[in-house]
Amino acid sequence: MAEPIRTTCPYCGTGCGIIAEKSAAGWAVRGDPEHPANYGRLCSKGTTLADTLGLETRLLQPVVDGRPSDWDTAITETAGRIRAVTDLHGPDAFAFYLSGQLLTEDYYAANKLAKGFIGTANVDTNSRLCMASTVAGHRRAFGSDTVPGCYEDLERADLVVLVGSNLAWCHPVLFQRLKKARDLRGTKVVVIDPRRTDSCDIADLHLPLAPGSDVALFNGLLAHCEAAGALDFAFIDAHTTGFSETLAAARAGDVAVTGLDRGNLTRFFDLFATTRKVVTVFSQGVNQSSAGTDKVSAILNVHLATGRIGHTGMGPFSVTGQPNAMGGREVGGLANQLAAHMGFDPVSIDRVGRFWKAAKMATSEGLKAVELFRAIDAGKVKAVWIMATNPAVSLPESDLVRRALAKCPVVIVSDGVADTDTLRFAHIKLPAHAWGEKSGTVTNSDRTISRQAPFLSPAGEARANWWAVAQVARVLGHGQAFAWPGPQQVFDEYARLTGFENGGSRDLDLSEALSLDYDRFRPFQWGGKRMFGDGRFYTADGRAVLVPVSHRPPKENLSLRYPLRLNTGRYRDHWHTLTRTALAPRLSGHRPEALLDIHPDDAAKAGLTDGALAVIRSRLGQMIARARLTQEQQPGHVFLPMHWNDCFAAQGLVGRLLPGHTDPLSGQPESKHAAVRVTPF
Ligand code: SF4
Repeated sequence: MAEPIRTTCPYCGTGCGIIAEKSAAGWAVRGDPEHPANYGRLCSKGTTLADTLGLETRLLQPVVDGRPSDWDTAITETAGRIRAVTDLHGPDAFAFYLSGQLLTEDYYAANKLAKGFIGTANVDTNSRLCMASTVAGHRRAFGSDTVPGCYEDLERADLVVLVGSNLAWCHPVLFQRLKKARDLRGTKVVVIDPRRTDSCDIADLHLPLAPGSDVALFNGLLAHCEAAGALDFAFIDAHTTGFSETLAAARAGDVAVTGLDRGNLTRFFDLFATTRKVVTVFSQGVNQSSAGTDKVSAILNVHLATGRIGHTGMGPFSVTGQPNAMGGREVGGLANQLAAHMGFDPVSIDRVGRFWKAAKMATSEGLKAVELFRAIDAGKVKAVWIMATNPAVSLPESDLVRRALAKCPVVIVSDGVADTDTLRFAHIKLPAHAWGEKSGTVTNSDRTISRQAPFLSPAGEARANWWAVAQVARVLGHGQAFAWPGPQQVFDEYARLTGFENGGSRDLDLSEALSLDYDRFRPFQWGGKRMFGDGRFYTADGRAVLVPVSHRPPKENLSLRYPLRLNTGRYRDHWHTLTRTALAPRLSGHRPEALLDIHPDDAAKAGLTDGALAVIRSRLGQMIARARLTQEQQPGHVFLPMHWNDCFAAQGLVGRLLPGHTDPLSGQPESKHAAVRVTPF
């Protein structure tokens, strides 16, 4: 029997540790009892990972212009086409579009090639759809993109507030940990969500606020804390700026726009004001909004003004959707960041350029996801290399995205599977390692870095993504800067960059990781369990910034023609665009198809019965789904899952309905507030 391999789950940002073991019956997985994210627990998706290891759907060799090819040809063609486009149209005619599914090493290599050697910052990622508003909110409050706390805080808090987070479905192991803590020590739980989700099963209070009204709610909470004498003026005076303006904005707000019952609002406000140990968990319900950054700021403002940050059992806590969204943003996977949590200020550009011995440094921010695909559609970006993601499904205004890919002169796609909606547009397909074959590192939602270790031989000619990038760099004439023998050397270089001219001025410093045995290191949390316990932040003056924010409604107005508010999100047992979870039959039992969740009153008005097929139309397009009549939806609101697409269901693509409105600071699309109408099929 082969030695058990310790690795991590490739699905959500909880980042559970997994032990893979081989027996005569094949590979089996179980939770790693020593991993600090899960201590042996797994959810339904993690438990069924061994069912998804088959080769039937894999991309097994490179494909160039529709013909099976080999790596030498594919690398030469990839490099040649990138060079032809950038020589003729400049570096910004090229872009990478990456993924929170990638390993840190893959992300680092792509960023280095684009930002240091091709000379463009057009490197964005599907993490833009997930937590970009949190990044922007963290940076303007803390001066750094730092998650202050750790998972243990969920178990040490006396009150946990879940805002825009269906933790029960989207981070199930964290939900299990919270539930156990609640059972053991009576933790109070408040869920703030327009829908009644399974997370409400453990809630003492559910606040079904009007979609998009989070700023008004948390401004109301701040004003209440001031009136109740719950502000921490010693902390405010010593460690923050912007308090007076922020409080004035909060007082000027109108909490009535939340549509919440006054009595329940008061219960929540009193509970928060009188409980010292409070963790506020927030996720896509906050981030995926044209006011996402302001919503994050409204949450951070309350925690900073009450001093509920940096200590055991308290703090604002963003939980990321994907397994390595955090690692991606750490190495600069967003178009507005450089590697190692640095931005596009002159000092950072110079520092990173010297460290890389860059041939051509990008000097300003690149295009964010939605604007990137609009630039492709407009013919400004003429070559795109997409890795481990399916933007033809996952982005809003997906018909525009498909039109853009159809007319883009050079589309390169690296993927582990042979057929996705996006791969159908690829001129060059590069077969990539899938889970079980990958070797590298990932960072989960509480800054814990773990190894994702291989236990399978690569399928066919699949190779690591960082390797493919390095080979293209070599053909482009930059071989010396990309001469890594393996992923360890990529990680070591990145870790050295985090410590380069740092001196405590930046939050992220992985110098200590250089002494670890890459093949065997155990998960470690960079920065320690909690950040900011000393009241020192990474702004110029070391103080956190309170930011005055005011309510702004969703961009898409309801109308007589489109009277229903459409919310979108995940199902418990499926992941992204189904390329892996659809391989495990057990997972499809929970929700075998996309369902339109609709209140019975709205269904009656639309002439729909439970189980009937419905056509859902927005001003951009339409899709078809079966109606599920449920009191979980408020009247006037409907819900659709994000997973289905043209590969798995004709007319099942929710992205066709979603407009491309974005947050002005974070560029994150407003994927939760479209306006639609519903009719029988
Ligand atoms: Fe995987 Fe997330 Fe489930 Fe853990 S909670 S097993 S990381 S999907």
